[in-house]
Amino acid sequence: MDSPSRSSVIIIGAGISGLSAAKVLAENGIEDLVILEATDRIGGRIRKEKFGGVSVELGAGWIVGVGGKESNPVWEFANQSGLRTCFSDYSNARYNIYDRSGKIFPSGVAADSYKKAVDSAIMKLRSLEASHVGEVIEPPCSPKTPIELAIDFILHDFEMAEVEPISTFVDFGEREFLVADERGYEYLLYKMAEDFLFTSEGKILDNRLKLNKVVREIQHSRNGVIVKTEDDCVYEANYVILSASIGVLQSDLISFRPPLPRWKTEAIGKCDVMVYTKIFLKFPYKFWPCGAEKEFFIYAHERRGYYTFWQHMETAYPGSNVLVVTLTNGESKRVEAQSDEETLKEAMEVLRDMFGPNIPNATDILVPRWWKNRFQRGSYSNYPIISNNQVLHDIKAPVGRIFFTGEHTSERFNGYVHGGYLSGIETSKSLLEEMREEKERKNENQTFLLEPLLALTGSLTLTQTETVSNLHKCDIPTQLYLSGKLGIPEAIL
Ligand SMILES: Cc1cc2nc3c(=O)[nH]c(=O)nc-3n(C[C@H](O)[C@H](O)[C@H](O)COP(=O)(O)OP(=O)(O)OC[C@H]3O[C@@H](n4cnc5c(N)ncnc54)[C@H](O)[C@@H]3O)c2cc1C
Repeated sequence: MDSPSRSSVIIIGAGISGLSAAKVLAENGIEDLVILEATDRIGGRIRKEKFGGVSVELGAGWIVGVGGKESNPVWEFANQSGLRTCFSDYSNARYNIYDRSGKIFPSGVAADSYKKAVDSAIMKLRSLEASHVGEVIEPPCSPKTPIELAIDFILHDFEMAEVEPISTFVDFGEREFLVADERGYEYLLYKMAEDFLFTSEGKILDNRLKLNKVVREIQHSRNGVIVKTEDDCVYEANYVILSASIGVLQSDLISFRPPLPRWKTEAIGKCDVMVYTKIFLKFPYKFWPCGAEKEFFIYAHERRGYYTFWQHMETAYPGSNVLVVTLTNGESKRVEAQSDEETLKEAMEVLRDMFGPNIPNATDILVPRWWKNRFQRGSYSNYPIISNNQVLHDIKAPVGRIFFTGEHTSERFNGYVHGGYLSGIETSKSLLEEMREEKERKNENQTFLLEPLLALTGSLTLTQTETVSNLHKCDIPTQLYLSGKLGIPEAIL
């Protein structure tokens, strides 16, 4: 059991935001930090697994937002780290829409339906904007036919570069690259950790990173924070950075003493959580059309989102014989609640509709369960298109000594890996500023308290500043001096 020694900062969660936050702190001299991660690995929603002989990404798979006026920092980092990626060209998906009898919709019909759906999505957006300012614009008709429903699903439940002015596309660009690297997307996190944590042969050996530490309680006061974990360990610090997802914040996994204020809990409750599930299927051989223009294909069914969006992995991993189908929200939750055998049966029926009765059965299936996972409770945050900035502002705002970070706190890029990465940096910068101000406040107080003493001891040779800083040093736990790696954090001096 860890003893409660006090550190400057405790970071809860070792996903991309927690690690980028820790890195910024370390770079600014705050090295006595502790990272508490609930699972046995770093990465959070960036997670690879071996499946069918290749590395598949259960969480984030794409670097989204490339080729625009600003450079996406995750894309830059991926290039510097030599991460293997493949360009994803979605533009052909609309020409690969299958009906339930296996016929591909003629390209003219598909293009028309697609254009209609984009126009109607834009109208819907305008009508929403108008209602926000008290005007009334007739909203477009809802999609009805299987092809309309399929396209509506693609436009609304996936990225809508054509429709919404999403900062990721506007600022970073509309291109997307699939990570296709055996080391996984998470390799970027190890590269980042290498800069400030002690690593050897690709493993993090630094004891400031504590895995399998499920935080259950955060006590906070004006003097500091006490964090308790499920295995009854207690950690003390001056500040905490909490990077758990919005789904976790909405759950009762972590309790706060005193409870979070109402403005905070209300804001947390207002943010929608998207569930996004990539189901992987391994086959003995390929029976689907190959080639880059056939990489993405769509199944049009009467039920919206029913095994709609498919991808073959031949571009990423030639010869892998792996297909991926993506479900979202209600369908994701439904599938998470049933057995993988049932899901396999449904997916095979859909594939037999598209490719005929003679295709082979899948030999393996992988169904991630992001919704059921108590350390995630969903895939990513989703703010309403026309949302009130106050909600995001309140979700992000610190409560006393508790600072919040994570993709859900990113104003421009929530929902994305780069959102998580940039939010970590931003949160640590705000915390550093707060620490600087706190130090100043303390210095002022101490000067005030010392003034009478100094007047009495005018004959002493120590300067006032030396006296104050020596008093501060007394507060530092002895083990900080003993740990060669830590040094003395500047913020304490
Ligand atoms: C299926 C899926 C597909 C996605 N696709 C893409 C994509 O293609 N491109 C893209 O850019 N983004 C994508 N995303 C989103 C992206 O993965 C996230 O935005 C990003 O990884 C979030 O990082 P984070 O640090 O904010 O949170 P997380 O990665 O969730 O990190 C939070 C960490 O906190 C830990 N934690 C939670 N509770 C506790 C606790 N009580 N005690 C201790 N630790 C705790 C968790 O275990 C986790 O490690 C996808 C996400 C999912 C799930």
